[in-house]
Amino acid sequence: MGSSVRIGHGYDVHPLVEGRPLILGGVRIDSPRGLAGHSDADVLTHAIASALLGSLALGDLGTHFPDTDLRWRGASSLELLAAVYAMVKERGYVLGNCDATIVAQQPRLAGFVAAMRANLASVLEVDSDAISVKATTHEGLGAVGRGEGIVAQAVVTIVFVA
Ligand SMILES: [Zn+2]
Repeated sequence: MGSSVRIGHGYDVHPLVEGRPLILGGVRIDSPRGLAGHSDADVLTHAIASALLGSLALGDLGTHFPDTDLRWRGASSLELLAAVYAMVKERGYVLGNCDATIVAQQPRLAGFVAAMRANLASVLEVDSDAISVKATTHEGLGAVGRGEGIVAQAVVTIVFVA
């Protein structure tokens, strides 16, 4: 039988390139470069969706949303997150809380965190205080520190309610 509380972890990375919008947590951020990827490449939202899948051992995002699936080309990752959360709810669980970290050397993200939390809380049907989003740099170290990409990690708990 399943546990009443489960935990999931998600990790994602996308390269930063010219000519793409930068979207994190569904918020468009003014930046000369954006993340490359199949959907809107919203690395934060992908990490959270991956954590939700992981909490129920449902595999990874690429399995459920292959980049050959035209439905998700250029799609908002908030829609993808909603689709993943529907799978969680189908199994009788709801989100307990989420703690996520964005690792980006640039741009500075602190001013956008509240809007990201609001977007994510709306999709996941919780109050914003159940969604933590932290942003840090990589202290100039390695590829992320050189601004070649952005990483996001997330941990979620889900609670069995039905
Ligand atoms: Zn991704």
